[in-house]
Amino acid sequence: MAYGTWRLLATQPTAQEINRRLNMCVEFGMTTIDTAEIYGLYEVEKALGEALALSPGLREKLEIVTKAGIYVPCKDVPERHTAHYNATGARLIKSLDKSLRLLGTDHIDLFLVHRPDWLSRADDTAGGLNQLIRDRKIHAAGVSNYSLSQFDLLNACLEQPLATNQVEFSLLHQEPLTDGTLHQCERLGIVPMVWSPLAGGKLFAPDTPASLRLTMAAESMSSHYGGATLEQLAYAWIMAHPSHPLPVIGTNKVERIRSAAQAESLTLEREDWYALWEAAQGHKVP
Ligand code: NAP
Repeated sequence: MAYGTWRLLATQPTAQEINRRLNMCVEFGMTTIDTAEIYGLYEVEKALGEALALSPGLREKLEIVTKAGIYVPCKDVPERHTAHYNATGARLIKSLDKSLRLLGTDHIDLFLVHRPDWLSRADDTAGGLNQLIRDRKIHAAGVSNYSLSQFDLLNACLEQPLATNQVEFSLLHQEPLTDGTLHQCERLGIVPMVWSPLAGGKLFAPDTPASLRLTMAAESMSSHYGGATLEQLAYAWIMAHPSHPLPVIGTNKVERIRSAAQAESLTLEREDWYALWEAAQGHKVP
């Protein structure tokens, strides 16, 4: 699993607190940290860099994933009026250089184009990514939220194949099961990264029919899995897919990071996987 930092600043943590959390992730074996230029309105990478600087050697224990390509109005760029995507090679290189500076590192392990930009040519995007790999500023490139055709087009222009497509996937957002995304990763032998694996917390909403059905289904199978919680079963449900999806978790609570790490050893039985599918969908398999 990877630790996601989209919500990192929601609780206004100090650099020391973020540092402790990163060290704890390492202790739990969760060494991949997922971030993005835009997170926290362009503040998260800086906060991570300050936290990493407190523990010399910590950065080397981590794989850092960052993303670029989304530009929204913010106080530091007053001339920007409209939110937009930009996946031109030149823009990606500029953003990556900024990420390296803020994170205080000389390389990014995996760099993702955050969203498909309808106006960038694939060979232009690929030119930037190829250059970054040749310069050893990034070790691998990937994409996020790409359709199958967008993925294939960019992949065809790259010197080193894309390493992942990071997509939304959970019991409450099952499109990648059927739209070909997970199958494409399986065919190419790459690991899909999964964002919002708990549907951003909606799995636990007290008042929706799907979350109530899921809570009941989880309770009925919990003892069979050593007292596993709904959140642990939801992670196991994702990881059971043959493409071996990698959940990027988003909690700010240490106990929930620990329990997520424990879910890595859960293997759901086939009928239980389908029972959770039914509970999420609200009907039996066709
Ligand atoms: P998530 O794990 O689905 O949702 C996390 C949210 O669920 C947090 O607010 C958390 O609150 C809450 N939660 C967790 N367990 C809970 C429980 N048992 N009861 C109630 N609430 C619970 O993931 P996410 O934060 O939406 O996304 C994860 C990561 O994916 C992000 O950090 C980011 O790195 C990545 N991401 C990528 C994209 C993309 O376009 N590529 C988009 C969105 C996110 P607490 O903090 O209180 O635990």
